[in-house]
Amino acid sequence: MSELNDLYQETILEHNKNPRNFREIEGADKQAVGNNPLCGDALRVFVRMDGDTVDDVAFKGSGCAISKASASMMTQTLKGKTREEAEAMFHEFQDMVTGKLDVETDENHLGKLKIFSGVLEFPARVKCASLSWHTLNAALSGEDEVSTE
Ligand code: ZN
Repeated sequence: MSELNDLYQETILEHNKNPRNFREIEGADKQAVGNNPLCGDALRVFVRMDGDTVDDVAFKGSGCAISKASASMMTQTLKGKTREEAEAMFHEFQDMVTGKLDVETDENHLGKLKIFSGVLEFPARVKCASLSWHTLNAALSGEDEVSTE
């Protein structure tokens, strides 16, 4: 577990310093605002669809290193995925950070996102890690706003 923890720390710091797809999408088909009042994280997620496929996804906002790194890695992962695949990943991610899915033994499609299983050791940060995913899910479902409380 400690190798995963080192990777977790390094990856979060790196994405926090240099977040990917940290921008607005002009004419986004879908967008939503997500708030995590416990930590003060607030993000807006933008999605542009091409038919049923995520053509572009980006985010803006402010928050702690974990919420930003998670949003950054989420945007990297979702491009080119179908809406159904994106929603399935949201559920897998949510199950991972709440301990219902064991990334080592249960089948999953999380790839690099597995490092976020590291938040299991820091229960207060689970909502930071999952905020961008809740926000994405709200955007895909046509909701404008989501709060993790
Ligand atoms: Zn946070």
